[in-house]
Amino acid sequence: MRVRFAPSPTGHLHVGNARTALFNWLMAHHSGGTFILRIEDTDVERSTRESEEAILEDLQWLGLQWDEGPDIGGPCGPYRQSERLHLYRSYAAELISAGDAYHCFCSPERLEAERQAALAAGQPPKYSGACRSVPDADALERMARGERAVVRFKVPAGREIVFADLVRGDVVFHTSVIGDPVLLRSDGSPAYNFAVVVDDALMEVTHVVRGEDHISNTPRQLLIYEALGFTPPAFAHLALVMGPDHTPLSKRHGATSVAEFRAKGYLPEALVNYLALIGWSPGGDDELLPVDELARRFSIGAVGHSAGIFDEEKLAWADRHYLRMADPARLAQLALTFFRREGLVSDPSAAGIEYLTAVVPMAAASVDRLDEIPSRLRFLFAFDPRKAASEPEVMEVLAHDGARAVIECLARELSRGPRLADRERFRAVVAAVKQQTGQKAKGLFHPIRVALTGAASGPELDQAVPAIDRGAELSGAAGLAPILGCRERAAAFAEALRHV
Ligand code: GLU
Repeated sequence: MRVRFAPSPTGHLHVGNARTALFNWLMAHHSGGTFILRIEDTDVERSTRESEEAILEDLQWLGLQWDEGPDIGGPCGPYRQSERLHLYRSYAAELISAGDAYHCFCSPERLEAERQAALAAGQPPKYSGACRSVPDADALERMARGERAVVRFKVPAGREIVFADLVRGDVVFHTSVIGDPVLLRSDGSPAYNFAVVVDDALMEVTHVVRGEDHISNTPRQLLIYEALGFTPPAFAHLALVMGPDHTPLSKRHGATSVAEFRAKGYLPEALVNYLALIGWSPGGDDELLPVDELARRFSIGAVGHSAGIFDEEKLAWADRHYLRMADPARLAQLALTFFRREGLVSDPSAAGIEYLTAVVPMAAASVDRLDEIPSRLRFLFAFDPRKAASEPEVMEVLAHDGARAVIECLARELSRGPRLADRERFRAVVAAVKQQTGQKAKGLFHPIRVALTGAASGPELDQAVPAIDRGAELSGAAGLAPILGCRERAAAFAEALRHV
């Protein structure tokens, strides 16, 4: 099996296209086949190298590595259409000499007038075929005189084109509704329908899996396969990914590109797993499965024909799952941009990274996305007792009988002991405060929490407190914002309370 993903580098990778790439990748991996990446950059006006690079980077970020492609080559290269122009020209010449294609001199104005006339008559617009009757010799002469011409394919009359779509079943088109498609534009560049056939044939693609927006192109392509004597691949057209209002997912709905979801803080494995679930189900009880397992279960025939709705809530659900499973060192690396954005981290040293690796799991278990991690851990870096003491939830804790005494006692205890670098040391201090103040449970832990973290809620104290004191021992060279230790926090909080 040979499949391909063939993006046009005219913008960012849309999640709908990423899903198409994923389904191709899953098919290839299911059967030990080859996944080809081909860049369809013949629209010179709109294609850019930046977009191509961004698409490659997004696919790599998703983990959808290709086996043949523009950067790594392969036996059927080149894999960029702009480098294959000689092939399209030679096949077009072959079709012209066989009488299956012809030069068309109709001006854009004439074509537009024909189109308008058809629309006015309530007919689907279709090229009239006017230039079919221009004799070859005349065409050559006109071109020699400098007249510009496109090459068009001669669609045979009175034919029914049927293909068995792997997702949609039999699809039928009658050639009476198909105008002669352009193969080569007047500048010699190929039109999509032509380049795609030449490339899919020469690259020995066995299965074309693409968006449903291409379904009406398929009969044109099948006719071109036939004329060139190539065996066509099998086709599967995927329903487009929709927004909640059942229109194709677009900017109006919010984020649409892989890059945007990445910037929002989703993990690639969550996006991949979620995209696989749009219109397909892996079966069994569990939908959250590693991509290799998805590939093992994947079957293109089991993909639904109706449109899938993009549901960001469900994506966040998948992301929560993968955040809990992810290796902390990887999470710390991935969260760096977000820590930087919050001004908590600059250029962390190895010790700084090690510290982040140790503290990130504390937050990862309770967030939807990576970008929420720094705010959950902000308490490590920011401590302002006066501000904290004016927060309604903290005031509520402080209003409790004995809360101030707990904080005074905590400050005293911490002033004489070592830092609370581990949970045992913290528990020993809590036991001492408990014994001296007679407070327990909430009456004990809530004041301790507000005095050490500046907030009435947050991660487990058993984890948060040692994290604070380990952070306090890091030097400024760690590349993190400074962290104030528990001893200093409790003293400052007790002091602040004396003034309120
Ligand atoms: N370049 C086309 C697109 O991005 C490819 C369509 C196809 O897979 O044939 O829509």
